[in-house]
Amino acid sequence: MPKSTHKIALNPNNKQRKWFAQQCGYARFAYNQALADFKKHCAETGEYLSAGELDARFNVYKKEYAWTADMDQVVSQQSIYKHLGAAITNWVKKLARFPRFKKKGIRDSFSSTNQSAEIKGKQLRLPKIGWVKMFQELRFEGKISSITISRTAHRWFVSITVETENTIAVDKHSTHPVIGIDVGINTLATCSDGSKYENPRPLKRYEKKLARCQRRLSKRVKGSKNWYKQNAKIARLHYKIACIRNDAHHKATTDIVSRASGIGIETLKVSNMLKNRKLAKALSDSALGGFLSMLKTKAEAHGIIPKEVDQFFASSKTCSSCGHQKQDLDLSERTYQCGCCGISIDRDVNAAINLRNVAVGHTETKNDCGVQVRPRKSSGEEAKNIETVKGIWKQEMLPI
Ligand SMILES: [Zn+2]
Repeated sequence: MPKSTHKIALNPNNKQRKWFAQQCGYARFAYNQALADFKKHCAETGEYLSAGELDARFNVYKKEYAWTADMDQVVSQQSIYKHLGAAITNWVKKLARFPRFKKKGIRDSFSSTNQSAEIKGKQLRLPKIGWVKMFQELRFEGKISSITISRTAHRWFVSITVETENTIAVDKHSTHPVIGIDVGINTLATCSDGSKYENPRPLKRYEKKLARCQRRLSKRVKGSKNWYKQNAKIARLHYKIACIRNDAHHKATTDIVSRASGIGIETLKVSNMLKNRKLAKALSDSALGGFLSMLKTKAEAHGIIPKEVDQFFASSKTCSSCGHQKQDLDLSERTYQCGCCGISIDRDVNAAINLRNVAVGHTETKNDCGVQVRPRKSSGEEAKNIETVKGIWKQEMLPI
């Protein structure tokens, strides 16, 4: 059964806020206690305790602390079963490193189960605290499989995972075109039909303010009231930056997916690109990897399987009109001027058209054996053949 998650902002009252913070603390306490227990037991006997055993041992241990009796016991159980259990399983399977202890104020969250929670319109009922207001109604219908409450900066959110049927109908006779998408720092996304989506670059906008806030924090006494206040201010600013970025990503991806029957995107090696120190900051600010994965997820939900073009495909250097490949192309050249067919076209649009051509199968980036064809160096012989290549390309060109 496919699962869908909807994250909704909450509007809790002061009493509920306090309760949420306490439950986060209890979840962290249970997690850290069980993890310490697991480590100790493993060091003494060399055996791994299961999540069930860890929970049973915690239930004995917690009686030493009277305050734990007032907490929601589902929270500690979920923290050990769901979160620590998964972390240990991933470590045993060698998918992740050994779980670390949780720290206060870093990714505060706790989980509840479907038995203990109820949803009615814009309200969520949790055990011991009652109805909490939500800013939106739950988008999906179906059986709730898990509920997690979390905090980002000053705001509380609920993530509700629902077991749902795939409700979005796939239109097999769609008349929408196949769109190639070139992503970049200056323009977030350029489509092969010429449309562009601006990149808000929010970090650049708030860079100075952020630096000023952080400088102020450094002058406060760590752990003092003013230090906490300043820390909260910085967290809010980071949250604001993330919101602006997310908003632009969501608007662009939704718009692209709604008017395409297929999409062609490039494979970015973000970790390699970050090695360029001049571009690293702007790249992190754009979060292009996140943008492409969001686009993929949304496309798949609409029944579109995105074609990921290999990273060695020279989408920028190739002419979208005749297929001629330039040796070098400076980043400052915003217009692609083809020396072969004479076309003059916007650099990003040119790259997007190339990606589109690969997506519709007009350009091969792999040979018959399925082996990646490396970008070739253009030779004299190739230049002679360019006329024939030009003919084939023109025949196959689709109207943009
Ligand atoms: Zn050309």
